Amino acid sequence: MQLTIDRLSKTYPNGVRALHNVSLTLSNGMFGLLGPNGAGKSSLMRTIATLQEPDSGSIRLDDPDADYNLDVLTNKTGVRQLLGYLPQEFGVYPRISARRMLDHVARLKGIERSNERKDLVLALLDKVNLYKDRDRKLGTFSGGMKQRWGIAQALVGNPRLIIVDEPTAGLDPAERNRFYNLLSQLGEQTIVILSTHIVEDVNTLCSQFAIICHGEVLYHGEPENAVKSLEGKIYSKRIPQNEIEKYRAGYPIISTQLKAGQLYIRVKSDEHLANGFSPAAPDLEDVYFTHISTKMDINTI
Ligand code: ADP
Repeated sequence: MQLTIDRLSKTYPNGVRALHNVSLTLSNGMFGLLGPNGAGKSSLMRTIATLQEPDSGSIRLDDPDADYNLDVLTNKTGVRQLLGYLPQEFGVYPRISARRMLDHVARLKGIERSNERKDLVLALLDKVNLYKDRDRKLGTFSGGMKQRWGIAQALVGNPRLIIVDEPTAGLDPAERNRFYNLLSQLGEQTIVILSTHIVEDVNTLCSQFAIICHGEVLYHGEPENAVKSLEGKIYSKRIPQNEIEKYRAGYPIISTQLKAGQLYIRVKSDEHLANGFSPAAPDLEDVYFTHISTKMDINTI
């Protein structure tokens, strides 16, 4: 499977330019779309999910093995048959059980035979570790349980393209871990697009990722290579809180971190930095902030 996004642009009627010449090529596996709030992630996800139209550009979904080539923007029905979508916000009927609601979704997705639906629903609830909670009302579920149910509904119909929009926002660490485990099992034969503003999500799950900000793709590649490209270029220093402005004026700070109440700054420099700076091992956050800081005021990140 290959998803090819070519020069996609979208400006909303209120003048907000949400996507600007976005071009990306995605193949099977987990792809992370990383960017701050307002970057354009949901706009891109909704466009791929055939829920909104771009102003210009194209999206294709090709599978040489299965011999299909879909124009995503015109063949909406074809795409929807291959698509599993977990939107950022999804309403559930709070008084309906997990099992009944999933049965309803399966019926909407065209699975007519009730026996087939029943087996599928129970198998999916088992897969997302909600089997024992299958008869509980959705309104009683925690955030993490709701997200896992959301994945179950996205998996109905064996999708080849799965889109999950900011799925870990609001989950506690244990729930997030459970959700990571579930997502990591999806990859292989499917394209999974995970949009997130959380760098750790990409680090944990994704073999490919892109950084998007103000509707533009700033970076596209593998997390490992991205981190390698910063080797020997990241420096860290603990500074008194009241000197931050002085340092901002003197150094290209890419991020600030508080550790045990102490303020540390991280700087990217091609030349060796003295003056109390220590070389630091780069990580994916450095990659993210290096790119984002070219587009945004660091104080607002
Ligand atoms: P993200 O998912 O990265 O937070 P969005 O795609 O939701 O970003 O939003 C990108 C920009 O487009 C933001 O400035 C947002 O306010 C704006 N936006 C999103 N949806 C609409 C809409 N339906 N009408 C007008 N502006 C919108």
